[in-house]
Amino acid sequence: MLNIKDLHKSYDMGESSLHVLKGINLKVEKGEMVAIMGSSGSGKSTLLNIIGILDELDEGQYFLDGIEIKDLTEKKSANYRNKFLGFVFQSFNLINFKNALENVALPLYYQGLNRKDRLDKALFHLEKVGLANWASHMPNELSGGQKQRVAIARALAAEPKLLLADEPTGALDSNTSKEIMKFLQQLNDEGKTILIVTHEHDISLMCKRIVKLKDGIITEDKKIKQHKIK
Ligand code: ADP
Ligand code: MG
Repeated sequence: MLNIKDLHKSYDMGESSLHVLKGINLKVEKGEMVAIMGSSGSGKSTLLNIIGILDELDEGQYFLDGIEIKDLTEKKSANYRNKFLGFVFQSFNLINFKNALENVALPLYYQGLNRKDRLDKALFHLEKVGLANWASHMPNELSGGQKQRVAIARALAAEPKLLLADEPTGALDSNTSKEIMKFLQQLNDEGKTILIVTHEHDISLMCKRIVKLKDGIITEDKKIKQHKIK
């Protein structure tokens, strides 16, 4: 599904540069649920952004579903993103002036579906996250957990092969975090490959594998017995 070889990434800081990722090797197979752990500033988001084709690597190689992600035009990278990847962020990133259903329907626009098919499909995915009754509500009428479920429905609407989540529970209380993680576990049980960036130990234990990042290198990579939420 995903194969990263000796990846390096630096940020240009004018006079100097900041070497953030220093030779990352990472393979993820279909059906895995991986936590990328590390303290703030360790390079987790940088790595996830490269995996998500939102940013480019400097050195090394990145293969996504067998395709090398390299020197892509804006159009091609947008294509791959829409085809392969779904994103969930800490801050939900919903569009405030669109209701829940329209938010979920948005990525389907890029798949060339007509309006009715988009809204039907969006409703199907809202149902999956248990929010069909909230379809016409605006984001500011939803709780944090509900917003994140809308964001997950939106990420899933285009049926991505890989779901990328950057601190998906970072803005939620612990009960709501569990609820969201339970849903992600169910999705993974259905076969979805999921990568979750987190700095919370208990969240990482709810995944099946933990990759620890420290100062831009992977210091640990182990499969674990998943803590299943009932
Ligand atoms: P994490 O997600 O683990 O907290 P990040 O990947 O966001 O870490 O950041 C790693 C390091 O890179 C930090 O020191 C951060 O300040 C720096 N950094 C992140 N993005 C940029 C950027 N666009 N330009 C310059 N420095 C950046
Ligand atoms: Mg981060």
